[in-house]
Amino acid sequence: MAKMNAEEAKKKLTPEQYNICFLKGTEPPFSGKYTDVFDSGMYHCVVCNTPLFYSDAKFHSDSGWPSFDRPVDEKNIKYEDDNDMGMHRVEIICNICGSHLGHVFDDGPTATRKRYCINSLALEFKPKEK
Ligand SMILES: [Zn+2]
Repeated sequence: MAKMNAEEAKKKLTPEQYNICFLKGTEPPFSGKYTDVFDSGMYHCVVCNTPLFYSDAKFHSDSGWPSFDRPVDEKNIKYEDDNDMGMHRVEIICNICGSHLGHVFDDGPTATRKRYCINSLALEFKPKEK
């Protein structure tokens, strides 16, 4: 899927989702519906439906946002330097549609040492079929 233009995205997304995905906003910590969800399934890009994170990669963090230690496929994620707010961070973008997802940090508690800190509003969770 090509990069969605802003008009299409505005029709499809809620204003809150649009703010995150296209204006690189951040949802307030502990506000997201997936922060404390640990069901089995797959987290997809809310804009283009690309699978981004397995529930297996999700871990509990006290950050207030859903946290993962690795993506489903590195090809689905794009990394960009972000120097906003007077600090250096690495922004994560959906590599298929260009939607802003969150940031990745090197302080994860698992073997990958990564903490993909993602906005719930940028994700759509699909439970595993039982
Ligand atoms: Zn996407």
